[in-house]
Amino acid sequence: MSAPNIETIVSLAKRRGFVYPSSEIYGGLGSAWDYGPMGIELYNNVKQAWWRWMVYERDDIEGLDSSIILNRLVWKYSGHEETFHDWLADCRKCKNRFRADKVGKLVSEKDGKPVFEFGDCPSCGSHDWTEARAFNTMLRTKLGAVADDDPAALAYLRPETAQGIFINFLNVLVTSRRKLPFGIAQIGKSFRNEVTPGNFIFRTREFEQMEMEYFVKPGEDEAAHQEWIDAFHTWFQGIGISSANLRLYEQPKEELAHYAKRTVDIQYRFFPEREDEERQWDELMGIANRTDFDLKTHSKKPEDAEGKRLNPDSTEDLSYFDEQTKQRFYPYVIEPAAGVNRTVLALLMDAYSEKTNDKGETRVILKLHHSMAPIKVAVLPLAKNKPEIVGMAKALKRSLQPVVRAVYDDTGGIGKLYARQDEIGTPFCVTVDHQSLEDEAVTVRDRDTWEQERVKVSDLTVYIKERLTS
Ligand code: ATP
Repeated sequence: MSAPNIETIVSLAKRRGFVYPSSEIYGGLGSAWDYGPMGIELYNNVKQAWWRWMVYERDDIEGLDSSIILNRLVWKYSGHEETFHDWLADCRKCKNRFRADKVGKLVSEKDGKPVFEFGDCPSCGSHDWTEARAFNTMLRTKLGAVADDDPAALAYLRPETAQGIFINFLNVLVTSRRKLPFGIAQIGKSFRNEVTPGNFIFRTREFEQMEMEYFVKPGEDEAAHQEWIDAFHTWFQGIGISSANLRLYEQPKEELAHYAKRTVDIQYRFFPEREDEERQWDELMGIANRTDFDLKTHSKKPEDAEGKRLNPDSTEDLSYFDEQTKQRFYPYVIEPAAGVNRTVLALLMDAYSEKTNDKGETRVILKLHHSMAPIKVAVLPLAKNKPEIVGMAKALKRSLQPVVRAVYDDTGGIGKLYARQDEIGTPFCVTVDHQSLEDEAVTVRDRDTWEQERVKVSDLTVYIKERLTS
């Protein structure tokens, strides 16, 4: 079977309650999606796996949850007010507007502006482009009961969670008594007024990020950077994404953000249907070496000789004092930044498979990693009009649910019930039949092989737990 494209996933996602188009009864809202009962389980599994790995299983990372709306000065000194923009280009023929870097290649820079070499318009095929121009993608809002045009009330919805971490660097350092190297992790919503959102949950204006800022001594940054690149490459495979669909992409100099010394993206093959192999890949996460830019720029002291990062508004110096060397300096920062939504999309695409049963019918099986599956086990009665079978099945579901996410379902024939669980990626189905009433055993069916095994009810919880983690 060829790899599924995003359209296949959109239809499965709606049919099985993973993701719905938002505001659908009012015609939808471009680029907004709602996560249904299965979707939110998968979504939470991604976030929990990340948090567990980052914060619980390591010794050097603390968690944080900062505000979405921050003092506007944060965005002034971070550089976002001035530079957080996309470059837009319009097709003169069909009047469609695109992100310049998506329809063209950045070739050079002139007078501080990027110069793109454009291809043909993806909408109409013409080759008549306007010049690229900047568009700030921070979403604006107003705080307080003020006049609409009062500039003092202007605020932004954060476009990244990172800045909330930098401005809390000293708070976390002091309250958790940390020494370098250490990191601060945060998961939360970010907002970007994307020029061309699309491709389902790949690019939306509201999305969630899992970011961690890892603070190190200058000089130790390059090695730490490489370690995080390798660690995340492995982590994605550990939650079930095949290595064949992942690759590392070294950002060339001209693509690097102004603060970055080096950035490596982990890309996923989100667009397998595209003929041009290079265009099949897009960013799943970015891992940047942000140098000491952020801590310096938010510090009250002027730092560089030209006075470029002079900050008269901050009340704190975010430098670090090394007790051993008795030196004060600004730590370097390594930032692994991943999107929850893109991870969910990659997991769904990677898990999608089709299998033909012995009646010649094609079934969809979502071969999600066990840890990511929304439901771990479904308990199904073979006959729903037999109260003893139904009673035993419901009791089994209740005995499993404190240990794993379990459901009971009797809303169809057994073939249909199996198919439904396969489509949402449930690793195991437990079937209670007539014989179960006599031998106190049930049939456990494996999602991937469709093989069935008879298991004693008294062993079931331990059996399921072991199979889930093996
Ligand atoms: P892109 O080049 O695709 O716009 P980016 O380089 O601007 O992404 P980062 O600022 O590095 O993205 O953000 C880190 C991660 O946040 C991305 O790798 C992606 O997973 C996620 N992300 C960024 N923008 C969006 C968006 N509009 N919708 C969904 N996820 C996003």
